[in-house]
Amino acid sequence: MSTKIKINENYKNLKQSYLFSEIARRVRAFEESNPEKSVIRLGIGDVTLPLPAVAVRAMEKAVNEMGEKATFRGYPPEQGYDFLREAILARYRSFNVDLDISEIFVSDGAKSDCGNITDIFGDTPACVPDPVYPVYLDSNIMDGREIVFAEGDESNAFLPTPGGLKERPYIIYLCSPNNPTGSLYDRAGLGEWVNFALKTGSLIIFDAAYEAFIEGNDNPHSIYEIDGAKECSVEVCSFSKFAGFTGARCAWSVFPKSIKVGDTTLNALWSRRQATKFNGVSYIVQRGAAAALSEKGISECMANIAYYKRNALLLADSLSRAGVWFTGGVHSPYLWLKCPAGVGSWEFFNLLLVGESLVGTPGEGFGACGKGFFRLTSFGSYENTLEAAGRLDVFFKKGF
Ligand code: PLP
Repeated sequence: MSTKIKINENYKNLKQSYLFSEIARRVRAFEESNPEKSVIRLGIGDVTLPLPAVAVRAMEKAVNEMGEKATFRGYPPEQGYDFLREAILARYRSFNVDLDISEIFVSDGAKSDCGNITDIFGDTPACVPDPVYPVYLDSNIMDGREIVFAEGDESNAFLPTPGGLKERPYIIYLCSPNNPTGSLYDRAGLGEWVNFALKTGSLIIFDAAYEAFIEGNDNPHSIYEIDGAKECSVEVCSFSKFAGFTGARCAWSVFPKSIKVGDTTLNALWSRRQATKFNGVSYIVQRGAAAALSEKGISECMANIAYYKRNALLLADSLSRAGVWFTGGVHSPYLWLKCPAGVGSWEFFNLLLVGESLVGTPGEGFGACGKGFFRLTSFGSYENTLEAAGRLDVFFKKGF
């Protein structure tokens, strides 16, 4: 039977996301016809190291509390437990950023927040980077919103600027350190966007999911380290890549009360939205997340991040030895390379798979500006990444 309901026609404008299924299909076919080859996957976008021990212990304790009448907890507060929101505030204080607890909203994921936030917007156009983490683009297509692209390319090292944009209000998405390019905005780069937003009455949605990978004392971990950002920026961050919570699920968003829209605030709108549609993150997971933000937790998390970064360095060294142009690999688990000799993204994928049994991600899967580029990730094991770096050396030496 066919229903007579109307659907959201905007869904028909979404591009089929065939990228990862097509990669899986090609790798499967290769493995079936070359069973003796050991394929190494450098396309993994998920963490592979287990949760920090201190978070596991905190969750075990929380499970036991849930099993006792005296300590059992039902629905959590929609905005998160204060013990976790306080821990998040302390993390911001370590970047010299002062926020109020009422500005922190705990959630089950940065992806959900980035997708759900459009609920509170009208038809202001969205400005999304190209290449892009797909949720920014697709959630706006689903809403039928006008979209303009801020293009990344070799000339701006995949750090788009507001330079070419018409001066009007936008909902601007920024991600730094960036997925897929691994590039990082410095203070001046973020400052340009904040000034543009203040001048045009735009809102920035800043995705800091990879903040913990940032090196150096002067690089901004939070957009609120930039003057004026509290007047125009929402920040989304996550325990996924910081504490290995991709499976446990916990994140947060910051809605400064200073962002006014007419006679209300974005904070009030988001609070209303969450109270209506969201029932909070489990107590157990929030206890684990808070433990990850303790002093011991941070040091365990940073040890895991150092492991991935050592992998990234192996890959970066190999690309540098071969004279290949790339971004990322320093403040990020991602490396974004220019396919040599004008080779296309998918052609490069095939050459790397057939030649060296290595798998990465064709850049054009992240947008038109990704054509001719390719993403490698450092979330695999050290041993595999070391082997992969050796294979990359051989691959580039052969030439094209
Ligand atoms: N933001 C970016 C830029 C990401 O790359 C990812 C995951 O890959 C996420 C957000 C997802 O975060 P979460 O696991 O909290 O939904």
